Amino acid sequence: MNRILFFFVGLWLSLSAMGAGRDSYTVLVSLDGLRWDYPEAYDCPFFAQLAQQGVKAVVTPSFPSKTFPNHYTLATGLVPDHHGIIANKFKIRNAGVVFSLGDSVVRTNPQYYGGDPLWLTAKRQGLRTATVYWVGSDVAIQGSHADYWWNYMGDLLSHEQRVDEIIRLLRLPEAERPHLVMAYFEEPDASGHDYGPVSTPTRHAMERMDSLMSVLWTRLQALPLADKVNLIVTGDHGMAWVSHERQIFPYDHLKREWVDNILNDFPAHVYASAPQYVDSIYQALLPVDHLRVWRRGELPAYLNYGTNVNTGDVVVLPDVGWVFDTTPWVDGGTHGYDHTASDMWVALRAIGPDFKRGYHRTETLRNVCIYPLVCHLLGITPSPCDGSLQEAADLLAK
Ligand code: AMP
Ligand code: ZN
Ligand code: ZN
Repeated sequence: MNRILFFFVGLWLSLSAMGAGRDSYTVLVSLDGLRWDYPEAYDCPFFAQLAQQGVKAVVTPSFPSKTFPNHYTLATGLVPDHHGIIANKFKIRNAGVVFSLGDSVVRTNPQYYGGDPLWLTAKRQGLRTATVYWVGSDVAIQGSHADYWWNYMGDLLSHEQRVDEIIRLLRLPEAERPHLVMAYFEEPDASGHDYGPVSTPTRHAMERMDSLMSVLWTRLQALPLADKVNLIVTGDHGMAWVSHERQIFPYDHLKREWVDNILNDFPAHVYASAPQYVDSIYQALLPVDHLRVWRRGELPAYLNYGTNVNTGDVVVLPDVGWVFDTTPWVDGGTHGYDHTASDMWVALRAIGPDFKRGYHRTETLRNVCIYPLVCHLLGITPSPCDGSLQEAADLLAK
């Protein structure tokens, strides 16, 4: 008798560990640069509807608050220091090459992408998956891609066509239909850079994305699988105002012969031309106002950064709103700063059968927790990661 009881209790426990279920569908949308306060600062009725009928939260990015590191964190649940895409631009020390968004050969080398992105975690466990331009999705990580994927180096689909593609994928016959669709949109980041976060063009870009997401949800709701689809809309980082008057030029402080390369992401990675210059670089930048400077391996623990072998010899982080770069900047917006600064935070809305209705989370949510959350929605086992489902569990309907 006891054995039978144990069997059923065990079965129940393992089924609940499987999560929301393999019969459900998850659409994870990233709006690049979706600063946490845009949906309320601007006129976004659909985001308001999502907050009313679903869940609303503020997500903290991982450090550094840049596009490549954070999209790949959302995909893997690992902080950049652990998955290896530590910046948009960094040196691969053992190959002597520079990883950058513009170099499609280096950028698509799977060797540099650690961790287990969602589209592979789910595919390996028997679910079909699809990506529409997610960072890393056009790279043959572990030798493979999602079942359906798009090449960011090809002719890019318009934002409206990406919505069409999500709907097309979810209309496929059941045996071919993906259970996970991850889609990427460049706005409101592009406008945020050009005009700053608080500006009329950024307002318009955000309002356009709001109505596009409304179209997406309306079309999802018209599908036969409407009551099985969870939609999460979030992003990779926020945006801060920068002024050309707050720029620090590296070579006002450094001797050129000390430096092999400064990769001008925020933070800047300074690679010394010889080991004896690391300290010269560090000491020269230490007294400069509005900069924080560390040697590799000496960054404070809360940044979770700087142990990766490809990190610069010296890491230089300007204060929010300041720029450390060799080429002159114009006024506008940027990001990459300390991820605990609220300008870098991200909005999240989620709706569907597995989410609470009208729930507003007050604490921020670490973006490493999105990976285990999506695994739960799909009913699959996550690979080891830096986040936990428990931290995001309050978003879920019981
Ligand atoms: P950031 O400078 O961090 O704002 O990076 C944003 C840039 O990343 C945008 O200009 C996008 O075009 C670019 N981007 C986004 N996804 C990809 C991708 N999969 N491959 C190459 N570039 C991308
Ligand atoms: Zn971005
Ligand atoms: Zn950006």
